[in-house]
Amino acid sequence: MRRIVILGTGTGGTPVANRLRRALAPDDASIVCVDRDDDHLYQPGLLYVPFGRRTLPSLTRSRRAQLHHGVDFVQGEVDAVDLGARAVRLADGRSLDYDYLVVAAGATLAPDATEGLTGPGWMERVFTFYSPAGAAALGEALGRFTSGRLVVAVLDTSRACPVAPLEFTFLAEDALTRRGVRDHVEITYLTPLAGAFTQPLAARRLASLLAERGVDLVSFFAAASVDGAAGRITGDDGRRVDFDLAVVVPAHRGPAFVPRSPGLGDARGFVPVDERTLQLPGHPEVFALGDVTGRSTSRVGSVAHFEGEVVVANLVAAFDGRPPLARFDGHTNCFLELGRHEALLIDFNRDVEPLPGHYPGPVGLPLLAPSRLDHLGKRAVESLYWHALLPGRSIPGVASPMPRRGKRLSLLEHPASVGAAR
Ligand SMILES: Cc1cc2nc3c(=O)[nH]c(=O)nc-3n(C[C@H](O)[C@H](O)[C@H](O)COP(=O)(O)OP(=O)(O)OC[C@H]3O[C@@H](n4cnc5c(N)ncnc54)[C@H](O)[C@@H]3O)c2cc1C
Repeated sequence: MRRIVILGTGTGGTPVANRLRRALAPDDASIVCVDRDDDHLYQPGLLYVPFGRRTLPSLTRSRRAQLHHGVDFVQGEVDAVDLGARAVRLADGRSLDYDYLVVAAGATLAPDATEGLTGPGWMERVFTFYSPAGAAALGEALGRFTSGRLVVAVLDTSRACPVAPLEFTFLAEDALTRRGVRDHVEITYLTPLAGAFTQPLAARRLASLLAERGVDLVSFFAAASVDGAAGRITGDDGRRVDFDLAVVVPAHRGPAFVPRSPGLGDARGFVPVDERTLQLPGHPEVFALGDVTGRSTSRVGSVAHFEGEVVVANLVAAFDGRPPLARFDGHTNCFLELGRHEALLIDFNRDVEPLPGHYPGPVGLPLLAPSRLDHLGKRAVESLYWHALLPGRSIPGVASPMPRRGKRLSLLEHPASVGAAR
């Protein structure tokens, strides 16, 4: 009997465990999931908390209850991994041996990485909705906000979910409009990227949507410091942006046990797996997926999910004595809330940037265009998350290789025509 240990029982780790349990006979494999607590939070739901549209308890369920029968759950803090001994040490002294290890321990917020961020004004006029406490506190501040300058700022390029701050901006603009105070509020979106998004066609489309809503987009703005008392964010090039209320996406880091585990990852806690096989170089028995990986794709749940399918296929192959042939193509899929009951869907991979068209085929949800259907799609994702994605069920059209059918691939050769393609 071989043992698979999965570190992290969140968006990525849970479906991997459940799919493996179905694929591998209980006599062949024991599957152990580790997490520090039993509270599985649906993180995308944090977006709605500041607007009073969701509460934290309604977004949280037992981790253990999401795991299929035959998957063991160990509650404990991972302290370090010994790659040579193939063992995981927990903070309470327990040790877990493994034959295969899957690191799915996510990323954590590192607000201390930005000078001044957690000083005076933090959680008073400077907030983040990327944590449960921050999302709740922001709700109160936003409710009181009736005039002045609202700044939404992505503070560094650690690739935390890149769409959520844009979604917050659109939803805030909508909420302020509904409250009748929009004319008294200036909204500015600060990003260290060259534009509103990483790839050009989506960046252009999102920039025009921000402009339509009267949001000032400031790009190439790498924040050096935040002064909550003075209400000012200073860029590393000396530019200063004043605010009355700031909503920031802090820097992200990998889990603290990674730098404590020689050979597992880098000093920031990220695990540099092969982008395609998702194996740790030199350690084919170690896989990593999701936010903890140190690769080029965005840190979003859809990536963790699609990577999980590849990890499962490669682990099942290893159990059968076959080579790990499954490859991750960088498939990323996100709904972006735009307010006004509309959303926009993007679907792309390493080779194909977000394009207009339909998903998952010629008939389907509109891509890269504001639509009410996509808004309904976004709302449906939460239920799919609990009832299909976490249990590891296959959803037609939602799978690891990016579907090419339905996309206007010709625009890759003629990107200038995307404006006309709306
Ligand atoms: C506000 C917000 C909005 C988002 N919106 C979207 C969206 O619209 N679409 C989308 O696709 N994605 C979205 N995301 C991103 C998505 O939630 C993450 O990318 C996804 O959850 C990553 O999955 P993961 O398995 O890598 O990490 P997680 O789901 O975070 O799981 C990691 C687990 O590891 C555990 N862990 C870490 N360290 C230890 C340790 N030392 N010991 C024990 N356990 C440990 C943690 O407790 C956690 O349960 C959003 C995220 C946020 C914060």
